[in-house]
Amino acid sequence: MIIVLRPDATEEQQDHIIKKLKGLGLQVHISKGTERTIFGAIGDEAILQSVPLEAIPGVEKVLPILKPYKLASRDFRKENTVIDVGGMQIGGNRIAVMAGPCAIENKTLLVEIAKEVKAAGANFLRGGAFKPRTSPYAFQGLEEEGLKYLAETRERVGLPVVTEVMDPRDIDMIVKYADIIQIGARNMQNFRLLKDVGLCKKPVLLKRGISATIKEWLMSAEYIMSGGNHQVILCERGIRTYETATRNTLDLSAIPVLKQMTHLPVVVDPSHAVGKWDLVAPMAKAAVAAGADGLIIEVHSNPEEALCDGEQSLKPKSFKQLMDELRPIAVAVGRTI
Ligand code: PEP
Ligand code: MN
Repeated sequence: MIIVLRPDATEEQQDHIIKKLKGLGLQVHISKGTERTIFGAIGDEAILQSVPLEAIPGVEKVLPILKPYKLASRDFRKENTVIDVGGMQIGGNRIAVMAGPCAIENKTLLVEIAKEVKAAGANFLRGGAFKPRTSPYAFQGLEEEGLKYLAETRERVGLPVVTEVMDPRDIDMIVKYADIIQIGARNMQNFRLLKDVGLCKKPVLLKRGISATIKEWLMSAEYIMSGGNHQVILCERGIRTYETATRNTLDLSAIPVLKQMTHLPVVVDPSHAVGKWDLVAPMAKAAVAAGADGLIIEVHSNPEEALCDGEQSLKPKSFKQLMDELRPIAVAVGRTI
C-alpha cells in the first residue's frame, strides 16, 4: 500500500502514521521525493482494509501497489533513484562508467589498468576476487588477497570499486573493501544472498539472471530492498536465447522497459552480453542511446594472457576510443559522460 502524505504533513504527523502502521505489523519504507513523501506499507495489506488511513491527519491518499514488486516500482517512487558512491553518482545526469578486468590477477596489473581506465574517463573500477566460473578447474579468483589489491588500488588511483559477492558467508569481508557489491547473473535468484545484502549499507549492482524475465529481476531487487537496502542498481548483461553468434543476447529494450517499471538506475554490461571485444563498442553506444544510466566494461592490458574473459576484454586504447565516441552520443540524449 502506498500512503501519499500531504505536502504540509508535520514531523509529528509522520511519526504518528509510522507508529500506527508498525503497530499493525507492517513494514514501513519511506520515499522522500522532491514534492511528496510517500510511505510504502509492506505486509498483509488485508489488515489495512478496515483501517480508515485517509482519516489520519497528514495523509492525502492511500493507494494499493498492484505490482508484485513494490519498493522497486515507479508507483512507490516517481523520481529516479540516484545512488551516491563517494561523491560519484549513478542514476543522475552523468553516465557512470565502471571499467576494469574481469578478475583481479595481481596488484601491478590492476593498478596499471585502473590508471588507464581513469585517464580515459571511467569513474569506477571493476574487478572480481570471487569468480563464478563454469568449470571448477578454471581460475576462481584471488579472494581476500584480491580484495586487498582492489582497496589499495582505490587509494592509489582514486576510483571507487565494484566487486562480486557469491556467498553470504563472504559478505562481511567484501563490504570492508568494496564500494559497490555485485550480485552476478548466476546468483540473481540466490534468495539467501539477496536477503543478506539487503541488510548491508552498501549499494548493490544486481545483474540480470541468465534466463530471468524483467519481472523476476525486479522481484530480486525487491528482496534486497525489503531488507532495508534501497541502493540497488540493475545491470542488464545479456540473456540466453537461441542465438549463438554472441555469448548472450543483449536485451536493449530492457532499458526503456525498466525506466517505466522502476525508479532504480539501469547499467548495461555489453562485455558479458556479446562475449567478443570487437562487438562491445557498438552495444555500449546503443545502450547509452537507449537511456542506460551507466556501463560496466571489461578492460585488460593484455587480453590474450587474461585469466578470465580475455576474448571480450577491450585493451585500454580501444576503451579510450570508445569513451571518446560515447561523448557525443551521451550529449545527443541529454546526458554527460
Ligand atoms: C562479471 O561481471 O565478472 C560476471 C561474472 O558477470 P555475470 O554475472 O553477468 O556473468
Ligand atoms: Mn567477466
